[in-house]
Amino acid sequence: MNLILFGPPGAGKGTQAKMLIDKFNIVQISTGDMLRDEVKSQSDLGKSAKSIMDRGDLISDEIIIAMIKKRLQISDCKNGFILDGFPRTLNQALELEALLEDLNIKIDNVIQIEVDENLLLERINKRASENKDIRNDDNSLILKNRIKVYKKDTMPLIEYYKSIDKLKTINGMQNIEKVFQDILKILWSFKNIDCVFVKIIIPDLFC
Ligand code: ADP
Repeated sequence: MNLILFGPPGAGKGTQAKMLIDKFNIVQISTGDMLRDEVKSQSDLGKSAKSIMDRGDLISDEIIIAMIKKRLQISDCKNGFILDGFPRTLNQALELEALLEDLNIKIDNVIQIEVDENLLLERINKRASENKDIRNDDNSLILKNRIKVYKKDTMPLIEYYKSIDKLKTINGMQNIEKVFQDILKILWSFKNIDCVFVKIIIPDLFC
């Protein structure tokens, strides 16, 4: 099962991704986490990415695509993966298509988690106040820029994934468990007919 989790900063993609990887034994690929690791290890990439991330702007498509290309070829992706925070621009989405074709991999679902802007601000401010491992981009001013960048560069992907009939939208303003259940429903409805038998025999696997 290969998924893209899509949504603005603070939508809850990371939380849901963690629940999904536990349930389905697949891996989470978060470009944000990968970049933060690069910053921590003070690699060349990390050093050049830091100030861009601290402003809430996007790292260049070229760097991100190279990172993803390397990551998708690691064998732990064979069982399935969740892309979290990628693609974030139309160009990244198109490059991803080409890359997946080369690697003979298919994306099963693109799941959009929708949350109102006010709630996003509230959640990120809460995360910033509770988190010991403070992110420089988790503050109201930078968040406003991250949302602006999301609207300008990332929202066009909604139309793109709709046009190729991949997008499923869920309400991210419900509690964590309810959002998770809604995602599972989508995953279930996309399973092929063989899985109907699996569900009857081992229902716990899916519900
Ligand atoms: P968010 O909480 O906004 O979803 P992430 O943890 O996914 O943030 O990403 C943090 C920062 O890392 C972004 O603001 C951006 O600078 C950079 N970044 C992450 N993923 C991408 C990407 N796919 N393309 C460009 N920049 C990215």
